[in-house]
Amino acid sequence: MADFLQQDIMYLPGVGPRRKEILSKELGINTFGDLLERYPYKYVDRTKVYTIDTVSPDMAFVQVIGEILSFEMTTISPRKKRLVAHFTDGTGVCDLVWFNSVNYVRENLHPRKKYVVFGKPGVFNGRIQFSHPDIDDADKIQLNDMGMQPYYTTTEKMKKAGLTSRSIERLTKTLLAKMSTPLSETLPPFITERLHLISRDDAVRLIHYPKTTDDVRRAEMRLKFEELFYVQLNILRYASDHRRKYRGYIFQHVGQQFNWFYSHNLHFELTGAQKRVMHEIRADMRSGRQMNRLLQGDVGSGKTLVALMSMLIAIDNGYQACIMAPTEILAEQHLQTIRTFLRGMDISVELLTGIVKGKRRQEVLDGLISGRVSILVGTHAIIEDNVQFNRLGLAVIDEQHRFGVAQRARLWTKSENPPHILVMTATPIPRTLAMTIYGDLDVSVIDELPPGRKPVVTIHKYDDQMTSLYSGIRNQILKGRQVYIVYPVIKESEKSDLKNLEQGYEGLLDVFPQFRLSKVHGKMKDKEKEAEMEKFVSGETQILVATTVIEVGVNVPNASVMVILDAQRFGLSQLHQLRGRVGRGADQSFCILVTKRQLTKETRRRIDIMCDTNDGFQIAEADLKLRGPGDLEGTQQSGIAFDLKIANIAKDGQIVQMARDEAQKIVDTDPTCSSPEYQILWDRLKVLRNTNINWAAIS
Ligand code: ADP
Ligand code: MG
Repeated sequence: MADFLQQDIMYLPGVGPRRKEILSKELGINTFGDLLERYPYKYVDRTKVYTIDTVSPDMAFVQVIGEILSFEMTTISPRKKRLVAHFTDGTGVCDLVWFNSVNYVRENLHPRKKYVVFGKPGVFNGRIQFSHPDIDDADKIQLNDMGMQPYYTTTEKMKKAGLTSRSIERLTKTLLAKMSTPLSETLPPFITERLHLISRDDAVRLIHYPKTTDDVRRAEMRLKFEELFYVQLNILRYASDHRRKYRGYIFQHVGQQFNWFYSHNLHFELTGAQKRVMHEIRADMRSGRQMNRLLQGDVGSGKTLVALMSMLIAIDNGYQACIMAPTEILAEQHLQTIRTFLRGMDISVELLTGIVKGKRRQEVLDGLISGRVSILVGTHAIIEDNVQFNRLGLAVIDEQHRFGVAQRARLWTKSENPPHILVMTATPIPRTLAMTIYGDLDVSVIDELPPGRKPVVTIHKYDDQMTSLYSGIRNQILKGRQVYIVYPVIKESEKSDLKNLEQGYEGLLDVFPQFRLSKVHGKMKDKEKEAEMEKFVSGETQILVATTVIEVGVNVPNASVMVILDAQRFGLSQLHQLRGRVGRGADQSFCILVTKRQLTKETRRRIDIMCDTNDGFQIAEADLKLRGPGDLEGTQQSGIAFDLKIANIAKDGQIVQMARDEAQKIVDTDPTCSSPEYQILWDRLKVLRNTNINWAAIS
């Protein structure tokens, strides 16, 4: 069987060298097996035949059976012709219309012969018409056999060469007919039986050749499950092997520092979500396994505090901790926050970023080696080779998507065993996606904001309403508040975008002569940028005109208005991140989304979602559904979500969960891959790892 599937596609009847080249180039189909795994993207029910007098233009695809009465060829332009065939089944007459390959069609169709016509009905000059319908010889197809008509992806180049969806369908059916032995099973019976999944062989045949919608459902279920199951098994297997190879430091007790902090320095109650997450982290840190935990929580949900308390536990157990931020400003903010929280306690907290230089830097480095420094706050500078800790026990990474998997791994060289790792992100990633992308991380979620926060009010304005918007901004500033105005510089390299921002900035200087403005964009030198930002953070300027560089983590509680211009050019998650910059103080905050009046339906929907909800997860789910996983921030590092042949991470969340649960059970019961009952799974996994680049990359 394996040999059969490996056969060169060229040797399938109907292919040959020319088609082979196109199939290979356009769809990556080189073997029989490749063709078999190109699944249809939709089906149309062809069991039903309509009479022409009952067909109306509001129907989806329909089929009619009848014969051609006559042809009519008209010349539209020297190079363009239109062919109409008048077609009847006795109940009425309709028109079949072609604009391409008209000569070919004309030569191959004959009056007084019975045809099955299949297509989307429209209406022209008061008559039903089918434009470019599928046509089959009625004698050659048996309607009862047609069942559901599969549709396969094709490209323009393929269509030009005559390789249509129908051709792929025919080739696939030829292949299925040639397949004399059943496809070998890739899931053990204890899984297929319990989950009521059909066999692999049945599924592959049915997915290409379904008779009913129920056939499609059962085939899809089996194939999607299998696909997602092996993705999860791969990830969990990797995580498990990693854990057996490396021991985790055991932080047995919560000690003096933590307790002192909790009873003397912490002046508010933890939220329920913070407490739950602390329990999860505690359990990880004393399990003897290295913690790899992703902490998701909306901006302002109190992740930093959770990180700090985890660091105190590390210190209580005789270890050091570090926290890495993506920018110097954020690192400095963390330093301040942490020092303020730890006021009066004997814990040395130091900063290490690119601007910490010379003697100061040496002092910090010495303090780390000697163990005098307990908490190091910094940027990428922390992972440089010359930074050596005495006993690094916990590394916190803030805002994950700026730190790749490889950078995370570099932390492990900083201590004898890999330190526990806590990754914090405010980019809410739907759980099923997180499982697939950061599958080696356990996920904790803070889904509750500290009490007393006033949710940000989001308002949609059109760009011809700027005058009233400006006066609103003026009022807020006169009340002592600060304002962000964000321009859509989507690609920092695009000059026209940057011009927008520059011009906008000049214009705002005229609109607000009485206020001071800062300007920040990604093309500025780091130093310049930091200086401008600092002016806004310290309150010296009232308005910050910026691009999305301010997206990540900056905390200015006094800022109460976020204006986003050309909001239609931003993705939902990005808008939500930007909005998270306000609403951090006690005052009512506003987010104003400015767009032009003409908007597409989808854009309007996006803006509506933003105005309706502040829930980051709801927004991320909506974003995932609107745009697919490829556009979500942080997902680019992993090709896995896009390599899927049939499952869809955005839509098949439930199956992802099922697959995850099954895979977890198996990895837990057979940690060393030695149980014969599971051999079929480990063998299959080996094959997949060998044939899939993205899988190899994470294992
Ligand atoms: P995040 O890092 O998730 O964006 P922070 O940790 O910066 O959020 O918290 C935002 C603000 O809320 C900080 O000023 C923090 O001190 C405060 N905070 C955190 N947890 C609580 C809580 N349980 N009750 C009240 N305030 C809190
Ligand atoms: Mg934060």
